[in-house]
Amino acid sequence: MIKNIDHIGIAVRSLEEALPLYTETLQLELEGIETVESQGVKVAFILAGNTRLELLEALSPESPIAKFIEKRGEGVHHVALGVDNIEDRIQQIKEAGLRMIDETSRLGAHHAKVAFIHPKSTASILYELTERPE
Ligand code: ZN
Repeated sequence: MIKNIDHIGIAVRSLEEALPLYTETLQLELEGIETVESQGVKVAFILAGNTRLELLEALSPESPIAKFIEKRGEGVHHVALGVDNIEDRIQQIKEAGLRMIDETSRLGAHHAKVAFIHPKSTASILYELTERPE
């Protein structure tokens, strides 16, 4: 089932401007920076104990992250739940009557399989299901 909170996604205007809060002030470790073209974002993963913070910077004004910031400003964008067998989890969630944004998983950062649940089904919280490769 759900194993953990894999990460919390945070929308930022600029990774360069956002990072010092985490890496210097809060003294957390930067795990890596990755561009995910398919989602129109540059991503920085920050280790925070047994979970991570995922800082998301838009690559273009058309990116969903750019639109999110335009509407709501910087801040928490999604909560990622770690799962096994993501396709089974998607089926189960659909059978329970929830709406998925992604009907099947797609490749996200870290070569993880990801799928988003529609926030209209979850009281406005955007949840991502994440299955990390072994
Ligand atoms: Zn995420």
